[in-house]
Amino acid sequence: MASKAENGGRDVRISFEFFPPKSDEMEAQLWETVGELADWNPRFVTVTYGAGGSTKEPTLSAVTRMISETGLKTAAHLTCVDASTDDVRAVVEEYRAAGVRRIVALRGDPAAGIGAAYVPHPTGFSDTADLVRMLMAYGDFDVSVSAYPEKHPESPDFNADIDTLKRKADAGAARALTQFFFDNDVYERYLEQARAAGIGIPIVPGIMPIQNLTQLKRFARRCGASVPAFLDDRFAGLDDKPEERAAVAADVAAEQIEDLMRRGLDEFHLYTMNRAPLVSAVLDRLGLRNRSDRRAGAAA
Ligand code: FAD
Repeated sequence: MASKAENGGRDVRISFEFFPPKSDEMEAQLWETVGELADWNPRFVTVTYGAGGSTKEPTLSAVTRMISETGLKTAAHLTCVDASTDDVRAVVEEYRAAGVRRIVALRGDPAAGIGAAYVPHPTGFSDTADLVRMLMAYGDFDVSVSAYPEKHPESPDFNADIDTLKRKADAGAARALTQFFFDNDVYERYLEQARAAGIGIPIVPGIMPIQNLTQLKRFARRCGASVPAFLDDRFAGLDDKPEERAAVAADVAAEQIEDLMRRGLDEFHLYTMNRAPLVSAVLDRLGLRNRSDRRAGAAA
């Protein structure tokens, strides 16, 4: 299936992030969402791994089903927090046996959640780059890693953050997917700094369509991402107007992507929160022609 789309004569590639369901209801919602968003022909999709490795089985099961039933190129997230190297290798072997060949390799947050002190496992990976190296040694994994345009909250400064990304790129990562951000200048500065440090891999902007501004702010605070004041203005007075709120959310994300495209970017990773309508509304606004004929025909 073609994964590139034309938009004003340019190729645009998209990927989607999902999380593993925690209940039957969420499971049904995930598969409905995957079915809808698959029509946008993503280059690949990813499934997260719970804090402290808490969703090993649900992640594996969602990834396996995505690969076998949808044909989507699917990456499993994998963290090495709270795990020995043998534990991590065992998960990798399970992924391999299920046909997984794409991994998003991460250090991860402790089971207590973001912000809890990180203590490396005594016989675990001390650095995410070591995990990337272990995966690359298999010879057939496509490995993505994380990047933090506003720096990771634990990084003492931007140089330390960029050094970490460089180690992961040098270890063989194919691309970095960024934490979400809303200020494109911040992303552009980070990209320039990364390129100046000799990091050549794609650093794919992570785009978060805003399903709920209040919840987003809580989450953003914990992971060190800022939520600019202009977003308060855009969403002001819309608390009780879900349709208008959704339209503004789609506008905001589409405007951000359009601006990044003007700056030369052509690849975007969308955080779906396992919900299709807002993500589809964003992509509709961009006028992408990714949509399969079936969907485009149905919408016509
Ligand atoms: P790294 O890139 O290895 O390090 C991040 C930064 O922290 C570096 O800049 C480094 O300087 C600093 N740092 C690392 N270790 C230390 C230390 N010991 N002392 C001081 N500074 C240090 N989390 C999950 O649990 N599951 C997921 O599925 C998941 N998916 C993610 C996907 C994306 C695209 C992103 C951006 C994040 C994701 N996370 C996920 C969150 C991530 O696990 C956390 O941000 C975690 O705190 C760092 O993991 P990392 O691999 O990004 O760390």
